[in-house]
Amino acid sequence: IHGVVAIVGRPNVGKSTIFNRIIGERKSIVEDTPGVTRDRIYGKAEWLTKEFRLIDTGGIQLEDQDFQQEIQMQVEIAIEEADAIVFVVSGREGVTRDDEYIARLLQKTNKKIILAVNKIDDESLQPSIYEFYQLGVGDPIAVSGSHGIGIGDILDEIIHSF
Ligand code: GDP
Ligand code: MG
Repeated sequence: IHGVVAIVGRPNVGKSTIFNRIIGERKSIVEDTPGVTRDRIYGKAEWLTKEFRLIDTGGIQLEDQDFQQEIQMQVEIAIEEADAIVFVVSGREGVTRDDEYIARLLQKTNKKIILAVNKIDDESLQPSIYEFYQLGVGDPIAVSGSHGIGIGDILDEIIHSF
């Protein structure tokens, strides 16, 4: 194993969809409703002969906690356990307050952050990635988890961090 990678982001941005794409199986449950309990959060993946463990932190949930406490715990786990963090946002909704909250938590680490702007299902949506520069966590990368676009770019960034 070359490293550990954690996926973080607010509910419903497509973390589990991207997780399943990367590990090549449908282990994490993709939910149309945010906040529904997921099953698998750990997977193993390989890219260009480099093996790594992947954690879908969205599947780690606390009972009776508000959004900020829950996401704070997920980000803390990501920062502690991972060599690289994939921060997933949605190009459909644009930058939200919750994205900004997560970005501020992530700015406390010097671990590699890969900013995946998901739901960029076709080229006409590409310009909507640029507003995510304002999160201050690096260059946004266009991804479509459901169409399998941009996943290779994310994987390249991941293995460069090991
Ligand atoms: P999570 O809560 O961040 O784990 O998000 P999920 O992976 O469960 O996905 C939430 C919703 O977004 C589901 O309805 C997915 O089908 C949808 N979704 C995920 N990726 C994409 C994408 O690339 N494009 C579009 N249009 N929808 C997506
Ligand atoms: Mg999920």
